[in-house]
Amino acid sequence: MKKYKQIIVANWKMKLNVDEATALSAELKDMLAKEPLADKKVVLCPSFLAMHDVANILKNSEISLGAQDAFYEEEGAFTGEVSPASLKELGCDYIIVGHSERRAMGEVDELVGKKAQAVLANNMIPIICVGETLEEYEAGNAKEVLARQVSKTLENLDNKYFILAYEPVWAISTSGSGKTITAAEAIEQIKILKDSIPASLKDFDIVYGGSVKPDTVGDFSKDFKGALVGGASLKAQTFFDLIKNS
Ligand code: PEP
Repeated sequence: MKKYKQIIVANWKMKLNVDEATALSAELKDMLAKEPLADKKVVLCPSFLAMHDVANILKNSEISLGAQDAFYEEEGAFTGEVSPASLKELGCDYIIVGHSERRAMGEVDELVGKKAQAVLANNMIPIICVGETLEEYEAGNAKEVLARQVSKTLENLDNKYFILAYEPVWAISTSGSGKTITAAEAIEQIKILKDSIPASLKDFDIVYGGSVKPDTVGDFSKDFKGALVGGASLKAQTFFDLIKNS
């Protein structure tokens, strides 16, 4: 499963309707069929509503289906939630948990950890997001915040493969800060991330997310296993170029 050099994950957030998501998936599938990038793993995370149609398009392709979130319970009276098992049934292999946009709505480390555990229990790969806010960064607290987020979120995880996504909240294109992190600065945080992962967890990769573009992705590729991409994943040619340059 992990023979690739880089994993590039598209987070389409709530930005595309079903028709747009299916059209973009089909376009990317065609592009990657014409010019296969065998050492790159590509994952598309559409909205829940578009997942069924996108799953059908991605059948018989090398592109994997991902989700933007999942609940931690298997089934029951949880209005509005989506179970990991139902996503697995749809053909989903990866699930983003703890994205900063969800943490901003109140998700805390413990909840994110329970979601990640449920994803693993359903034989999918969680992409667990951590990252400091602009306030925390400017106060010089980034390392402390990252250490807390990583150790608390991962404390009850089974020892199975997972992906940790380092996404400085302030560097995400839609954060409104207008700031981007330099690759050197992001790379500096890898040690603190690794040191904060519980010793029982041996099998993981770390990817970077935050305003990654086709002309900047290469700066991160040597030290990170890949990228989580928002804005630059919304146009087929831009995303394809980004994948190629990673
Ligand atoms: C994200 O929201 O996870 C993200 C990385 O977005 P962008 O690439 O647009 O900064």
